[in-house]
Amino acid sequence: MEEDGFILVPREGGECCWGYISSTNANEDDVSVEYLSEISDFIEGLTASLWPLNKFIHENPELAFQEHKAHEALTSFMRSWEDNWQVTPSAYGLETAWMAVYDSRRPGPSISFNAEMDALPNLGHACGHNLIATASVAAALATAEIVKRHDLAGRVVLFGTPGEEGWGGGKIRLLERGAYQGVDISLISHPGILHNSALVRTTAFARLEVEYFGRAAHAAKNPWMGVNALDALVISYNAVSALRQQTMPDDVIGMAITNGGGEATNIIHAYAACVCVIRARSAHRLKDLQEKVSACFRAGAEATGARVKITVTQGYRDHVPNRVLAASYAKYWHQLPDVPDPPMPPPSCGEEQPFTRIMSSTDQGNISYVMPSVNASFAIPPGPLAGQPHSPDFEIASGTEKAFLRALRVGKALAGTAVDVLTKPGLLDEIKRQWRRDMDAIKERGDLGAGLL
Ligand SMILES: [Zn+2]
Ligand SMILES: [Zn+2]
Repeated sequence: MEEDGFILVPREGGECCWGYISSTNANEDDVSVEYLSEISDFIEGLTASLWPLNKFIHENPELAFQEHKAHEALTSFMRSWEDNWQVTPSAYGLETAWMAVYDSRRPGPSISFNAEMDALPNLGHACGHNLIATASVAAALATAEIVKRHDLAGRVVLFGTPGEEGWGGGKIRLLERGAYQGVDISLISHPGILHNSALVRTTAFARLEVEYFGRAAHAAKNPWMGVNALDALVISYNAVSALRQQTMPDDVIGMAITNGGGEATNIIHAYAACVCVIRARSAHRLKDLQEKVSACFRAGAEATGARVKITVTQGYRDHVPNRVLAASYAKYWHQLPDVPDPPMPPPSCGEEQPFTRIMSSTDQGNISYVMPSVNASFAIPPGPLAGQPHSPDFEIASGTEKAFLRALRVGKALAGTAVDVLTKPGLLDEIKRQWRRDMDAIKERGDLGAGLL
């Protein structure tokens, strides 16, 4: 088993649980429980005001970077908390990004939460980002409340992060514009129906737009004068199909022909285009896959004489979860009453791969390469068809009161994690040491992935 600084500790009922070595003792756990009951009571008190907000976002789905109604609703809600929350609408030059800061005005850890808001084309909130916003707003408010009541030092930052769906990378844009400067950790969650997990890895992702430029000619009279761009594309499509047999189990290649060169059968097609989306378990592995896929596209050009242009657009990195932060989240998840199914895997138990791997991508991955991050996965009660995210069934599931209550539970565990960082001496250093170990291990495996931020 990989050395990761965790130990197994027995739990009642014979299950094993886990905690970080340096600060697992009875007194600190007592303190954690005390904070948790305050956090829990505070968030319970928010139920009546957060439910309409959650419902409003769900019922008004907006696409990436067009989250105007959600932006207005969320910034108005945060402005209603007058005590020291500084709310910045349209933050960092992004119309639908926003930021709310609670500052104790005493130097200490700077804890951030990300609230996603965007929905999917034709599917509404089928990714449940209304629940992500709810959990993060609840967690940020509860953390600030504990800071205020206990006169803690530090800062709580809540970001409204637009444009996660597709490849817009709202968080990447915020990162590039300096929004996260001075922030120590980033916390977020994501709903699904399969997992409750604090140690979530997502896939790295890149998008290749491929164009072939040939030469038109009459297909019967003088085809030898032409260069067939559609043939180039078809050859590359088949080459990619053959490549799929030889890829790693976590590699995914999706292709769509976006321009077949027109409907004429008597003209050699001068232009054809496709889009290819590749996913892999790490940014490093993605670079390998990108090279192999690009070779297939060049092969089509080589075989036909067409010119190929490959445009690699911004990709998302894989999410690297911070184990020390995740231990804190798992501890609070289990301390809250009525632990829901499915069980949260105790990551250090057994010989199994300890991470929960989710075959989708998020720009929180890019955040995790800049600072310690948790992207907790939580299961909501499924819809009638048990549809997963990005299905009409999940759109229904993410709008229910039961899903909302699950998001509040997540908000409590996220707030507990934040309060641990604010109150436990040395914990932030330990979190950062783990992050540096993770980043060093990635560097040892190779570079960070060309074409990726
Ligand atoms: Zn999604
Ligand atoms: Zn999502």
